[in-house]
Amino acid sequence: MSLTVSGAKSIAEFNPSQVIQSFQEAYEEGCITDKLRQHFCQFVPLVYGLLGEYDPNREERKAKKLLFNPIEAFLCGGPPDAVFKELKEKDHPPILCGRVFRSGEPTYSCRDCAVDPTCVLCIDCFNNGAHRKHKYRMSTSSGGGYCDCGDKEAWKTDPLCEIHRKGEEKGSNQ
Ligand SMILES: [Zn+2]
Ligand SMILES: [Zn+2]
Ligand SMILES: [Zn+2]
Repeated sequence: MSLTVSGAKSIAEFNPSQVIQSFQEAYEEGCITDKLRQHFCQFVPLVYGLLGEYDPNREERKAKKLLFNPIEAFLCGGPPDAVFKELKEKDHPPILCGRVFRSGEPTYSCRDCAVDPTCVLCIDCFNNGAHRKHKYRMSTSSGGGYCDCGDKEAWKTDPLCEIHRKGEEKGSNQ
């Protein structure tokens, strides 16, 4: 495979589906590394302002379009947005918030419902959940713990806030 950049490749020549197709073919032939290298050789100079004026926004947009999107689409075997969405929908159960607290972040527990005092919620789950109307207790995280929203072992009632309840309903319809 030739890696020469013959006859200035222009952005106008960039055809995403052709590029993805060529990645796929190269992968099947076992020369995907060469193919990717070739792709970068051709398009990196067009992206990173080596030809023409420097404009960071334009550069970023071009890098996404010419370099990262095709690779993402190739790795996903389809349009990345749709594939990621599909993967996300398969991610059920568990519906857990799992937000990891930074030091100093507020956490909320519920005296009525928490199984023990280590069961805590992040501010989003608390604000969108039932426990804000209960006897709650606010504290400040020393960092490292995580939100227990969605953990049915952690709460006697209302284990899910509204945000994560929606996720559960969606999942159980499948
Ligand atoms: Zn949370
Ligand atoms: Zn939640
Ligand atoms: Zn409660």
